[in-house]
Amino acid sequence: MLGRVQGKVALVTGGASGIGAAIVELLSQEGATVVATDINEMNGPEIVTRLKKAGREVSFLVQDVTSEERWIEVVAEIGKRHGRLDVMVSNAGIGIGVPSIVHMSLQDWRRQTAINMDGVFLSVKHSLPLMRKHGGGSIIMMSSIAGLRGSANLAGYSATKGGVRLFAKSIAMECAQVGDGIRVNSVHPGIIDTPIWGKIPTGAPGTGQNAPIGPEERARVVAPLGRAGQAIDIAQGVLYLASDASRYTTGTELVIDGGINAGGVVRAQAAAC
Ligand code: NAD
Repeated sequence: MLGRVQGKVALVTGGASGIGAAIVELLSQEGATVVATDINEMNGPEIVTRLKKAGREVSFLVQDVTSEERWIEVVAEIGKRHGRLDVMVSNAGIGIGVPSIVHMSLQDWRRQTAINMDGVFLSVKHSLPLMRKHGGGSIIMMSSIAGLRGSANLAGYSATKGGVRLFAKSIAMECAQVGDGIRVNSVHPGIIDTPIWGKIPTGAPGTGQNAPIGPEERARVVAPLGRAGQAIDIAQGVLYLASDASRYTTGTELVIDGGINAGGVVRAQAAAC
């Protein structure tokens, strides 16, 4: 442990699983006091108990990121307990895949947008005042490579992640304009091996396409590095953006995707066939 975020107070949404859990673990390992929030009332407390046993400063609050009322309570609670907020990681998200956009219900479109976009908007709206009170900080929004390029079957998800990308840039400009010392960036994971892949429903009734998508299998074909990333790979990028090492970085997009967004490669094995 190098203490790269020593003394900072961080809030991580969606901290009970996958990428969020890895961020909670790494930031706390590097000296931050971390408040993890999630709707998952089972995993969250388990992770926190394990990290506390290892001497980390972590706590868990139940939070649905789509509830503005709960955002007000969570930020007030952090102000009361810790007196400040230095790092806001807006990570909670879901993915809903469909064989065709014509199979997407308006209800699912709205649910995905509520979590992936409204949740990020509310995180900024309610964390900025506390961050500003103490002279600055870092806001990190979890987008995706699906927010940089189109992806068949995930149009609604791409729309939310593309929205998050430009929302981050716009808030970065607002903060720079007022000179509040807050940096704002987005992170764009590629195919990362987390539980989200088992939860992405791809089928519509009668289409016969209900199998969950396997990240490793997909990454072998799609990712130039030939494998799926791990949650810790994304957490390392978040650590950089949360730390003072990134003090001159704002409004940027950190792509961590095994090369997918850069282009494609022809594998030696495949080329030899
Ligand atoms: P995950 O499913 O493992 O974790 C997501 C967490 O968000 C879960 O703990 C879930 O309970 C929580 N969550 C869902 N709805 C919520 C709500 N309304 N309020 C609060 N918490 C809620 O998935 P992950 O892969 O760790 O995804 C984390 C983020 O990374 C998401 O925003 C996702 O879109 C993004 N992402 C993931 C990948 C990937 O390949 N895994 C790729 C690109 C982007």
